[in-house]
Amino acid sequence: MDKPIVYDIAIIGDGCASWMLLEAFSRQKGFADVRVLLIGSGEVLNRTWCFWEADLPEPYQIMVQRSWSSMSFASDEVLHVQDLDDRSYHHLPGEHFFNYFNHQFLPRHPNIIRVNSRVEGIEGAPGNFTVRCGESSYRCKQLYNSGFMAKRPHIGIWQHFKGWVIELEEGHIEPEVVRLMDFNLTQEHGCAFMYILPYSATTALVEVTFFSPQLLQESQYEHFLKEYIARTLGEKYNIIDQEFGQIPMQQGAFSANGPNGEVNLGTLGGMVKASTGYAWQRMRADSEQLAQAYFTGQKAIRTHEKTRFGFYDSLMLWIIINEPQACKRVFTQLFKKKKLPLITRFMDEKTTLAEEISIFAVLPLGLFLKALWYRWCAPISRSYMLSVIL
Ligand SMILES: Cc1cc2nc3c(=O)[nH]c(=O)nc-3n(C[C@H](O)[C@H](O)[C@H](O)COP(=O)(O)OP(=O)(O)OC[C@H]3O[C@@H](n4cnc5c(N)ncnc54)[C@H](O)[C@@H]3O)c2cc1C
Repeated sequence: MDKPIVYDIAIIGDGCASWMLLEAFSRQKGFADVRVLLIGSGEVLNRTWCFWEADLPEPYQIMVQRSWSSMSFASDEVLHVQDLDDRSYHHLPGEHFFNYFNHQFLPRHPNIIRVNSRVEGIEGAPGNFTVRCGESSYRCKQLYNSGFMAKRPHIGIWQHFKGWVIELEEGHIEPEVVRLMDFNLTQEHGCAFMYILPYSATTALVEVTFFSPQLLQESQYEHFLKEYIARTLGEKYNIIDQEFGQIPMQQGAFSANGPNGEVNLGTLGGMVKASTGYAWQRMRADSEQLAQAYFTGQKAIRTHEKTRFGFYDSLMLWIIINEPQACKRVFTQLFKKKKLPLITRFMDEKTTLAEEISIFAVLPLGLFLKALWYRWCAPISRSYMLSVIL
């Protein structure tokens, strides 16, 4: 009987993080001699990614559909249109991403074996993992996982959105400016804003986004979309595509490694920034770190929540959960007083401490002090009191 193959590397999940990791691996010397197994459920993700980046490298550059260098923010009393710095805001459709990896990348790398299957469990430890998929199982020395098994973490707050790609029959959309946030809609369901990604002067993705614990009914998202489009873009349009998404905005639910010592990737690995829902940049940086670590033996420096940016996120999340009506005021102050390049670099965690202090100086101080007290000081003093009493 043939001995079962022991793969050098197995990667669970066939979404964004897994392909990014494979791409980063493929640029390392010696990759062609590594036996790699990619196990994914084969689910087709109808998803698009947007992110800020200055010099987008190959192969991602060729996947980008459109890039913008101006953005706007709108709220009751303000409409700000500003240019970005040397970075652009890129729109990369999932179709381009998966087509590239399935039809160009994979055939060039015969050392990658792809299996369509759902993983049910992981056993073993680094050096000797077994991955179970129904009747089959696979062995590997190093394991990376972006897939969810039976037990999913509890998520208390979501970024949830519904978008329509519309084609106007009459009227015009400003094609050079992305509307990052428009707070001109009711905040009764939590922090809510509209987002417009213009593909041309007559076509755009218009999205209604909420940061809140509960999802809405389909008809409610549609009501907001209809009302906003009629009010700002016109009554006559055709819906040519749509998307719905929900992204966890949760700290403490995800971790860099799984229980057996496997390396977690993507959403599962905590790469989604909890206060914004953006993950693309973090996943790409993480892939580079992990690929280099595998081939050099050095420790990967990975994104985690215990940084000063994680602390800022924790305050913002507290406000989103406990004072949702105040979010509009926070964002309005921010965009009124600070420049777009600084705000977007802050969202990407690329600012200096001095820049962050200058940002917090223009935000509602009482609200952030309240968040600081209830999120951090009160729990610490409560546990101190308990330790004294007990
Ligand atoms: C609709 C949507 C839009 C987003 N847009 C943006 C954006 O514009 N910019 C940004 O920065 N971030 C965005 N994000 C956040 C983040 O970039 C994406 O969620 C990203 O796809 C996460 O990558 P991932 O590999 O962790 O998960 P996924 O891309 O979802 O891939 C995971 C894959 O693993 C498979 N899988 C799951 N469980 C198993 C299992 N047990 N066995 C085998 N396979 C399994 C799934 O079928 C899936 O194909 C968005 C998220 C969503 C949901």
